[in-house]
Amino acid sequence: MTSALMSVYRQAEVAFDHGKGAYIFDVNGRQYLDFNAGIAVSSLGHAHPHLVKTLQDQAAKLWHTSNLYRIPHQDRLAERLVENTFAEKCFFVNSGVEAIECAIKTARKYFYDKGQPEKNRIITLEGAFHGRSMAAISAAGQEKLVTGFGPLLPGFDRVIPGDLEAMKMAITPETAAIMVEPVQGEGGVNPLSDAYMQGVRALCDEHGLLMICDEIQCGMGRTGKMFAFEWSGITPDIVAAAKGIGGGFPFGACLATAEAASGMTPGSHGTTYGGNPLAMAVGNAVLDELLKPGFLDHVIDIAAYLKAALDDFASRHHNVVEAVRGRGLMLGVKLRGLDPRETVAAALANGLLVAPAGDNVIRLLPPLIIERPQVDEAMVLLEKTLASL
Ligand code: PLP
Repeated sequence: MTSALMSVYRQAEVAFDHGKGAYIFDVNGRQYLDFNAGIAVSSLGHAHPHLVKTLQDQAAKLWHTSNLYRIPHQDRLAERLVENTFAEKCFFVNSGVEAIECAIKTARKYFYDKGQPEKNRIITLEGAFHGRSMAAISAAGQEKLVTGFGPLLPGFDRVIPGDLEAMKMAITPETAAIMVEPVQGEGGVNPLSDAYMQGVRALCDEHGLLMICDEIQCGMGRTGKMFAFEWSGITPDIVAAAKGIGGGFPFGACLATAEAASGMTPGSHGTTYGGNPLAMAVGNAVLDELLKPGFLDHVIDIAAYLKAALDDFASRHHNVVEAVRGRGLMLGVKLRGLDPRETVAAALANGLLVAPAGDNVIRLLPPLIIERPQVDEAMVLLEKTLASL
């Protein structure tokens, strides 16, 4: 179909009309099981009653005022994030990539204000994805992201993930920060090991660097902890969050310790829409659910059930499945001899939504509220998908 849209996405020829829980329905009324959740966004499923009611109520009251005035829902969400996470300071934005921009600016400004403006370089990992702004593509540096968009932003050094020696060698007197995705998402659902995360933290401590975690895809409960870095028993200085934080309402946040955020003084940064009353009301409603006793335990339980089912699937189809990897409800099936895009299209045709990722992987990112019957159903649909290829 021709389209008036810029053709940066290869969109599937399906349009969705409504959703409920883990299910989504196309304009013809066909039901699909949504194990993509809008790329890890709709963590509470579609049309969650508490989110719908909150948004409707807020929409009837006040949409926007700008950050020139206090926004009570924003204050409340920041206070609750501070109470329940490592963060001492928050800045709300409209998307994941804006949270990354804020994280990078926060790190650079920290050293600038300490009288060390030369400390402005950031070490990132090969295979990383941090979004599509100039800073984010420059940080990730992947050919497919940067081609045609130069000149890139200077100040990023890349190393291969998992090699602490390489990381150590990359640190120079100009290094300000190390930025990692605790579970690389777009790169192929690659969790960094706890030992590696601990090693990165130790290098940051040793060299006086800030540790930035991009938790845009893996955070907000997706791995069974509020943030994936918690599994490694470490605390970063700055975290970029988005996706699941709004349950489908588009917003993100840059979270930081008070020390790391010390350079973000009045006038140094801003956003017209970030932290608006609609987003912040929904954000509080999302947090109401994530903080319910047992919510994250459920994620851990159901993720173990899904992982076991996928491992069984892999053992029965080892000719086409090389590995199953990930953490919590962020799981990747690495294919052998099958094209991930074709496999995702076949799954869609069979009524299952999943997403492709790098390294020949299909990603399963179901809503965190799924139950065992939905996992069983997904496995049946995966079997059908394989049979149809
Ligand atoms: N960082 C990570 C790890 C992501 O997965 C994404 C989006 O997929 C982004 C950053 C960019 O987020 P957004 O598309 O909301 O700008």
